[in-house]
Amino acid sequence: MIALFKEESKKIKSKNFKAMKMKVGLGPNEDLKLVQAVRDSVGKDFKLMVDANHAYNLKDALYVGKGLDELDIYWFEEPVAPEDYEGYRELKQKISTSIAGGEAEFTKYGWNKLISNKCIDIAQPEVCGLGGITEYLKVAALAQANFIPVINHVWGSAVSIAVNLHLLTAQPDMPGGLFPSKSMLEFDTTEKNIFITDLPKEEFSILDQVKNNNGFASVTDNVGIGINPDEDFIKEFEINE
Ligand SMILES: [Mg+2]
Repeated sequence: MIALFKEESKKIKSKNFKAMKMKVGLGPNEDLKLVQAVRDSVGKDFKLMVDANHAYNLKDALYVGKGLDELDIYWFEEPVAPEDYEGYRELKQKISTSIAGGEAEFTKYGWNKLISNKCIDIAQPEVCGLGGITEYLKVAALAQANFIPVINHVWGSAVSIAVNLHLLTAQPDMPGGLFPSKSMLEFDTTEKNIFITDLPKEEFSILDQVKNNNGFASVTDNVGIGINPDEDFIKEFEINE
């Protein structure tokens, strides 16, 4: 397993990504060994994030989080259950690695609870799940008013990627400053996803852009979100009952 993680992380880094996120949640000790292996593989100056998809209870998350503090991890994502606001807050107070989360939070009311309970250092709103673009803008404003950087959660289809690319491009720097850090576009590299490659009528490849533009992706000049779903492709997945 360690050799596989090392090889995969080298491969992803070679595609010009500016940062990398790895999955954990296989068990606290196993996780720390794997994160150490990936850190050794990508080098100490590369941004590395860790996503637990709420695999832990607070005790295990604290154990893993203290280990991550030694490995210069950019953020620890969804360490505990989304409903465990107390757990989030206690973890955030006790470890120095930034806590990220929010992909399973919905509407401005849910986000208000997550933010006012001081659960996270980095907000990851999921526009396709939380209530759409208008609601996303309210959540982003809420995060901005609380000085919390927003790095969108992005998953699924080309439509989701294209919408998020526009939202990230349009949002103000958070928290700002003289040399603010630019937001990142999350992109899943685990396997070929036909809802990314075959859904749009237009040529749409984030991988090619990242590879050819030193880690950057751009919005297109096309109208709207820049892509149009291929209706024949969608028909293949219609369910008529
Ligand atoms: Mg996640």
